[in-house]
Amino acid sequence: MKYSLVLKTNSGSVSNIMIGEALQSEFQSLLHKIKPTKTVFITDETMVKSLHTYCSPDNKSVFILNSGESEKNFDSLKRIIQFFFDQQIDKKSLVVAFGGGVVTDITGFAASIFYRGVSTLYVPTTLLAQVDAAIGGKNTINFNDTKNVLGTIRQPNHILIDINLLHSLPRRQINSGMAEIIKYGIGFAEELFSYIESLKKIDTKAFLHLVRRSAEIKVKVVAKDQDESGGERKLLNLGHTLGHAIEAQKNQKLAHGEAISIGIMFAAFISEDLGHIAKKDLERIRESLEKFALPTRAYFDVKIALENILHDKKKAGESIDFIAIKKIGHSYIQRLTLVELSAYLSQFSL
Ligand code: NAD
Repeated sequence: MKYSLVLKTNSGSVSNIMIGEALQSEFQSLLHKIKPTKTVFITDETMVKSLHTYCSPDNKSVFILNSGESEKNFDSLKRIIQFFFDQQIDKKSLVVAFGGGVVTDITGFAASIFYRGVSTLYVPTTLLAQVDAAIGGKNTINFNDTKNVLGTIRQPNHILIDINLLHSLPRRQINSGMAEIIKYGIGFAEELFSYIESLKKIDTKAFLHLVRRSAEIKVKVVAKDQDESGGERKLLNLGHTLGHAIEAQKNQKLAHGEAISIGIMFAAFISEDLGHIAKKDLERIRESLEKFALPTRAYFDVKIALENILHDKKKAGESIDFIAIKKIGHSYIQRLTLVELSAYLSQFSL
């Protein structure tokens, strides 16, 4: 089974997305169709073997990052740019990102600034990247321990989402991706949330459904509000205000989705306090996250978390746009003063 989706933004850029199993021949057909002057590949040390099995690239055309969030930095960006330079890629070349969200984020950034933009094809290999990071054109690196400070918005030209690549993904990383899928259910689609609640096990059919529904939701939101100017795209940040602040704390070992899971629970906690969701919905949200062994609370230093949030782009003067939950399937922007936010953080931290 294969699905095609097209993300056409209000500024006219287009991402062609294909979702399915065993898409190697589609990968080759795409290369044949695009006919780039040169194709280069960015991956990480975990996925380099899999990249070679997937599409047999020439060794010289592959750049390998170390694995992990700490690689999403200025030095790696510079080394990728140097690699593009050494490979003599030009405006008609193609940059392939083969890996998780770290690889797609930094590759997208490098490709967007090299010669003011080189074409990209993403092959996301984590569930999180398949349902979220690879879609929507946010290309970023971290700076001074703060997440996603530097970046551009530019859509990848092609995204090939092959769920067979998830076979090697450790359970913990699958669960991390589930946090973002649960986010879509809570924030945008009650039926997706109920589907997740009723899931007994995630087989191929379930993966295809979860990935396709998540991609459809993200495509719809980004198509309307690519630059986050209309408010709609901000809703995708449900769970990310505290999630990013926790991720930015030194020596923390959480996967991205695990930090977001705690952030989602924080949003549910505030939404219940504001009288929007009932206690039983708060519990449904907690159970959906715990079903995938995701953390729902943690200790964090409130002062540092607040500082990190203030560095975050969601700040507006003395208040922030916080994504809260009106009811399951519907999120909204709640303006919170920093005093209110600080009080909530103190109550929520273990
Ligand atoms: P990641 O890229 O660090 O991948 C997680 C781990 O899984 C890594 O060790 C990686 O080497 C390994 N891995 C990848 N594919 C594998 C596979 N098929 N089999 C075995 N191991 C595999 O992390 P992630 O969770 O994919 O992405 C998180 C990043 O994405 C964060 O930096 C986050 O900020 C970013 N993100 C970006 C957006 C966006 O819109 N641009 C959205 C959400 C998240």
